Amino acid sequence: MTYSQRVLSELKEKNPDQPEFIQAATEVLESLAPVVDNDPKYEKAGLLERLVEPERQIMFRIPWVDDNGVVHVNRGYRVQFNSAIGPYKGGLRLHPSVNLSIIKFLGFEQIFKNSLTGLPIGGAKGGSDFDPKGKSDMEVMRFCQAFMNELYKYVGADEDVPAGDIGTGAREVGYLYGQYKKLTNRSEGVLTGKGLSFGGSLARTEATGYGLVYITQELLKDHGKNIAGAKVAVSGSGNVAIYAMEKATQLGAKVISCSDSTGYVIDENGIDVEAVKQIKEIDRKRISEYVKDHPTATYCEGSVWDNVICDVALPCATQNEIRKEHAERLSDTGCYAVCEGANMPTDNDAIEVFLAKDVLFIPGKASNAGGVATSALEMGQNSIRSSWTFDEVDAKLKGIMINIYYHMKEACEQYDAKDNFVIGSNIAGFMKVADAMMAQGIV
Ligand code: NDP
Repeated sequence: MTYSQRVLSELKEKNPDQPEFIQAATEVLESLAPVVDNDPKYEKAGLLERLVEPERQIMFRIPWVDDNGVVHVNRGYRVQFNSAIGPYKGGLRLHPSVNLSIIKFLGFEQIFKNSLTGLPIGGAKGGSDFDPKGKSDMEVMRFCQAFMNELYKYVGADEDVPAGDIGTGAREVGYLYGQYKKLTNRSEGVLTGKGLSFGGSLARTEATGYGLVYITQELLKDHGKNIAGAKVAVSGSGNVAIYAMEKATQLGAKVISCSDSTGYVIDENGIDVEAVKQIKEIDRKRISEYVKDHPTATYCEGSVWDNVICDVALPCATQNEIRKEHAERLSDTGCYAVCEGANMPTDNDAIEVFLAKDVLFIPGKASNAGGVATSALEMGQNSIRSSWTFDEVDAKLKGIMINIYYHMKEACEQYDAKDNFVIGSNIAGFMKVADAMMAQGIV
């Protein structure tokens, strides 16, 4: 058994109840085999064993009171996975499905994603099984305050800087930040995704979706294709999906779908992105509302990947939404590129199908890194007590995404894995973290 196989097998034995974490670790460790199995220094330093074990994981209760005076208790998490190259950085997810396995998979992926940005940020993730859907603003505020009452002990501008994720948008970040300031008496960049009036960065809201489209554009250009005129299918209708649709449309693509957790909309005339913003960001309603004012659109319950036909797929909702049967259908109906906006939206069987059928595939740790990269730019602006214009941040974001693409491509070429960006992104992300861990001794 090779070194990477042994570590993976021990990991599976130790964490039998963490399927999402094992799924993410399997993908990464299998990709790293050509590096770590051919150089004994890594095994001697126990590097993989240290890499797959979080530096620290915190679980705590979050008691809060609803508008009727009823007490609720949710569970809070922060997994600080790896700080070899910088302070911990990663979002907070608020969704009923949140558990330790999901937070660990997200935190583990975050290590490599953050490294790929080229910026000095370590990997972490957190969240709670609280569901903001259907709660009043006051209930969300009381929950966020209760969450921060415990979390503030473990975070700080140079220590751990959380951000948004599913269910955590500008409103939640604002409440969390207010409570941190109240508890510590410090005005510092402890969270990113803040409002513009208290340290937020222009273009952070747009960054993950825009970054996804910038890297997709570069991928297509590098393969003799053009995003202008391409038929693009998007899933999700949250932060990532909305700004991916906006940028793809600006660049001349036709975006024909979006979805939420109940169903999906297909509009062959092109999705009206402003209407989606109104429904999801402002009215906080279901995406089914879209068809009321758009007669060319159809709404169906279920997964958009069961039906949509496209050139380019941008899954932007959640993990494991594209499975093997979806991947086969997409590639058989002409889809030639899949770039992940969400984290791990494609399961490992589906990735195999895409790679076998020569569908260009970029994993989320590379293609959705624009969000965290711009968060790091927000940290930079906070620490120099200054702010940059939208165009300055957007230009830096575009440069970072193009860099990630060529960095990954270089790793693919070096390890004889042409166009296998799963291998390329994992190796490129790993090398910097591994060098830092080797230099810092056994810690
Ligand atoms: P949002 O909460 O803004 O939106 C999530 C969207 O996905 C909503 O449309 C939601 O539908 C849908 N969704 C959530 N869970 C499910 C599910 N189980 N099945 C089907 N649809 C679902 O989150 P974001 O847009 O911020 O995040 C989307 C993905 O992108 C996540 O994987 C996140 O980790 C990843 N990501 C986000 C970054 C960011 O900067 N925001 C950065 C990097 C990655 P509904 O409205 O019904 O809940």
